[in-house]
Amino acid sequence: MRVAVEGAIGEENELLAARVRLLEGLVSRTELADCTQHALQWLGGTLTLSRSICLVRLLGEQSLIVTGAHGIPGSSLSSFSVSVDDWANPLVTALSHRKQTFFPAAHSAADRRRRPSTPFEDAAFYVVPLGSEIADEAFGLLLVGGTGPLPSELRWFTTIFSQKLDQILRSQALVEGDRRQGRERSLLYNIINAVTDPILLTDTEGRLLIANSRALTLFTASEEESEGRRGAVRMNNMLLSSALSSKAIEETGAARRELLLVNPVDGSDLVFELLSTVTEDSRQGSGVVSILRNVTDLRRASEEIEEGYRKMRLAEAQSRAESDRLNLIIDSVADPIVVTDAAGATSLMNEPAERLFTIPPNASAIEQRWVQANDAHFSSFIAGMLVSADQRRIGEIGLVDPRAGEAMPVEAIAGKILSDHGELTAVVTILHDRREALEKAHLYEQLKQASDELERKVLAATGDIAQQNELLRRQAIELEQASALKTQFLANMSHEFRTPLNAMLGYTSMLLQGVAGNIEPSIRRQLLRIESNGRHLLTIINEILDISRIEAGRMPLQISRFKIPELVGEVKAELEPIIMRSKLTVTMQIDRDLPPVSSDRQKVKQILLNLLSNALKFTHHGSVAIVARRDARDRTLQLSVADTGIGIASADQDRVFEDFRQLDNSPTRAYGGTGLGLSICRRLAQMLDGRISLESAVGRGSTFTLTLPLKGRR
Ligand code: ADP
Repeated sequence: MRVAVEGAIGEENELLAARVRLLEGLVSRTELADCTQHALQWLGGTLTLSRSICLVRLLGEQSLIVTGAHGIPGSSLSSFSVSVDDWANPLVTALSHRKQTFFPAAHSAADRRRRPSTPFEDAAFYVVPLGSEIADEAFGLLLVGGTGPLPSELRWFTTIFSQKLDQILRSQALVEGDRRQGRERSLLYNIINAVTDPILLTDTEGRLLIANSRALTLFTASEEESEGRRGAVRMNNMLLSSALSSKAIEETGAARRELLLVNPVDGSDLVFELLSTVTEDSRQGSGVVSILRNVTDLRRASEEIEEGYRKMRLAEAQSRAESDRLNLIIDSVADPIVVTDAAGATSLMNEPAERLFTIPPNASAIEQRWVQANDAHFSSFIAGMLVSADQRRIGEIGLVDPRAGEAMPVEAIAGKILSDHGELTAVVTILHDRREALEKAHLYEQLKQASDELERKVLAATGDIAQQNELLRRQAIELEQASALKTQFLANMSHEFRTPLNAMLGYTSMLLQGVAGNIEPSIRRQLLRIESNGRHLLTIINEILDISRIEAGRMPLQISRFKIPELVGEVKAELEPIIMRSKLTVTMQIDRDLPPVSSDRQKVKQILLNLLSNALKFTHHGSVAIVARRDARDRTLQLSVADTGIGIASADQDRVFEDFRQLDNSPTRAYGGTGLGLSICRRLAQMLDGRISLESAVGRGSTFTLTLPLKGRR
């Protein structure tokens, strides 16, 4: 019993000593691999678990890696790891459910499919989860080869080993965290130093906590630096704290405003845009993060851009005004104008051009075709212009007026517009409708033809007229000759008649005067008849002779000054026998202040004799009045013979002055005479620059008036 107890005590002591060995080994080790190695060796030596592998999931990793093994060849371990995302893997299930599992030895493919792939291959093994006591999930697995039941001591081992591993993993995580924090801090500094804008963190009192190098040059200066530089830095700090302490920040927590600072390097003005944000940190308290963006250049640039923009707007307005003016001019021109660009595309056209080259809404199919044809003709003209080197081009284009549907030949005058660099910018074309010009030319041609025709006809007619004139001239000459011959004949014949007639009258007069002795009364009557008829014949012959002389221009004038009353008295005295026989009252009314007249006395007397004898002849009862008066208005003398005789019808009043004209031409006519008296009177009056006029009414009498110029003939 004692031996047994001693034996039991001896085993217990041995176990305790083994536990102490493990604990000592673990305490002195801090590395994961070192600890694992020691622990697995202890398992092999103490608990005779000769084959074991330890798998651990490191902090932040997604797989279990081998931290150590015992009794397993290194070559089969190198590629062994387990992904925690591989949910189908029984090892992951054991890990997540913290479940101890036994995998018996595999004898078939089906067995293998149910087992995880491990360095134990087909051999049986246990999986024991390793984990902290407070966590649900395990952080590692202990794989132990063997088929027999696991020793109870393994539970103590797992607890101790897990605690040690947990401790190492935690301390590793802390170290890693510190390292990462250090890295992040230096990265942060690098980043803020790399930023060209000054960045700074200040506390609520305005003290600088963190600043990048750009901010340091503006807001910090060491004692060694110049006074000017330190002054500038002091000034900048004041400006910054006043900007940060402004009400805007307190109210809104963030603000964006302009901050004017001094450049400590050269003292120049710097304009910054200050963007500040209040940050709340539970450990450090609240602070203000400020980012300063240098806008000095930006402001200058923006001013320049603004100025440029203003100029551009001005130029644009000017160019728009110019373009409006141009449009106005183009629109006010009646001829179509088209502006095309360097590629030949139309960029501008006025209204007359639109009528030719654009299809109006509701246009008929034929109108559309005409517009398209116009476009094609114009485009080919412009294409020719673009390829030629000429600056100007004048050509004819056969267009169609789409509204009227009639042909519209135009003269196209195109000019190229070049830029300052000599590049073609546009082509301006003016189209001049030639229809009117062509119509005018056509009309002119017609007019010219008509005028030529007229000229030909006039020439022909002139020829005819000239011929007629020539004929007339010859006839006139012939007539003149005939008239001269007639006159000559009459003059001769009158002379031939008058000489024997005067002789006959002389002898008759002598017989009547009793030169041949007393004559019987019956013979006296016969002789008186001979004398009367002879005298009548002599009158006729004298009158014919007068007409002939006048016509032949051989009636000379003898101008003298004489008094009218005397002349009238003489005429009346000469006709006294006839007056006595007629039993008519003959009166004389002569103006007292009648001046003497300068004229041919004989011819005036002949006229008055004729008028008075006609009055006596054609008046059967009543009276005959001789009136002489002066007309002061036209300085004439008027000698009138007015009778109360038979009168003359108005239709005959002109005819009585014609040669040989007697109103009564019947064979039984009551009055004698030749019909030459009045004709001679009118011609004589004309020779004396005077005239004879007549007023008469049938049955009431006639008044013949001789009007002579008072001053007479010059
Ligand atoms: P005649 O020798 O026939 O008188 P005149 O030349 O003197 O020719 O007159 C022409 C005609 O005019 C006359 O035959 C007569 O018919 C008409 N006649 C002339 N004087 C008068 C008159 N005082 N009253 C009416 N008829 C007159």
